Amino acid sequence: MSKSKLPSLNSVVTCLSDYDPESLKVDQALQIVKDFVRPSAETLTTETVEIYQSLGRVLAKDIISPINVPAADNSAMDGYAFAGSSISTTDKTSLKIIGKGFAGNAFTGHVNTGECVRIMTGAIMPSGCDTVIPQELVQLDGDDIHFASTSVKSGDNRRLLGEDLKEGSPALLAGKIVRPSDLGLIASLGLGKVDVKRRLRVGFFSTGDELRSIGQALDPGCVYDSNRYTLFGMLSRLGVEIVDFGVVRDNPEDMRRAFSDAAAQCDAVITSGGVSVGEADYTKQIMRELGDIAFWKIAMRPGRPMAFGSIQSKDHQAVLFGLPGNPVAVMVTFYQFVRYALLAMSGASELAPLTMKAQAQESIRKRPGRTEFQRGILTSNGSGINTVSITGAQGSGVLRSMSEANCFIVLEHDQANIAAGELVNVVLFEGLL
Ligand code: AMP
Ligand code: MG
Repeated sequence: MSKSKLPSLNSVVTCLSDYDPESLKVDQALQIVKDFVRPSAETLTTETVEIYQSLGRVLAKDIISPINVPAADNSAMDGYAFAGSSISTTDKTSLKIIGKGFAGNAFTGHVNTGECVRIMTGAIMPSGCDTVIPQELVQLDGDDIHFASTSVKSGDNRRLLGEDLKEGSPALLAGKIVRPSDLGLIASLGLGKVDVKRRLRVGFFSTGDELRSIGQALDPGCVYDSNRYTLFGMLSRLGVEIVDFGVVRDNPEDMRRAFSDAAAQCDAVITSGGVSVGEADYTKQIMRELGDIAFWKIAMRPGRPMAFGSIQSKDHQAVLFGLPGNPVAVMVTFYQFVRYALLAMSGASELAPLTMKAQAQESIRKRPGRTEFQRGILTSNGSGINTVSITGAQGSGVLRSMSEANCFIVLEHDQANIAAGELVNVVLFEGLL
């Protein structure tokens, strides 16, 4: 848990010239979130884990290569190694085979001008050799090979010592989230342990008297709590430690206890529901009482109301996200704001998801003055052009619109109606991890 004090919200928002909590642009809100959590990024401690356990974790230190990769000059092809100076000035070059070199079983003798060694990919270049001709370019003739002199140049098909990585140079930088390729790279350096940041601890709960849990009867006017499940899914993907505080009933005692417990145990707390205007519940009141919170109306759809700041329990502070209650709004505000904050707090350096352009398959209605996150299906039309269409009803309570989609169509603040064929920004749900 982070002990360092978070800044006051006021100190962060006063840096913005036109801060208006009643009408905040998406990029302003994101800027405030980023500025607010940045100071806590350094507070996470480091732990050393086995290489397998480092997958998905954030590197705490640069990984410095203890060796040269490759450790010696070696062949990039199956073929014949020789000195480039042996290439004839006439049309044809002929060389005498004097031995063999395999990966892990090198030829140890010296190769003179006019000689060559049968060599396999990865085998150390024999003494006297700097060039390899691929086997398919030579004509084998007993103990000799012949090839066209123009088919190879001196130095071809040889990998140089330290070409991939020099001893003492950084192979991976602190802040990198370890991916499958990184596991391989770390292993290729012979390292079995990795220093990573402690995992962030994130608590969440749902608020609303109308919420029922799985297994309970659905009384009139009630809905099953789905937000804790989408939050569980999204947080699991981020690789944080999760604490589920359940559904919290709308009375001051339960609310106060839930916020205090969560703030005491977690680096960040996420709630859903109870932050919209005119809510006759205690969520906002208790947030105000225990924390330094701004209540925003963000110019976005879905996801307009959101509470952001810090809450305090005794000597411990946690970042607080009070997300709207509507299930799609929860996911949109999570990906738009919470994800950035949690990654930054985790010490990760990769923050922005990739935005790409796609052609709208149909016209899309859009009102200028707010950023819209429509749910889309991105497809490639066969000639390499990405097209995107909208998944049915886009209401902020329609989770099916998310499940059927594979991307957000992000319609910018000032953008008006989109005509079919126009390019729009899309952000894919799934990355190659
Ligand atoms: P609120 O922001 O509390 O006004 O909630 C807005 C809408 O989202 C209402 O229709 C709620 O019933 C619904 N809602 C709130 N929390 C949840 C939840 N945890 N799961 C599913 N729906 C919810
Ligand atoms: Mg509510």
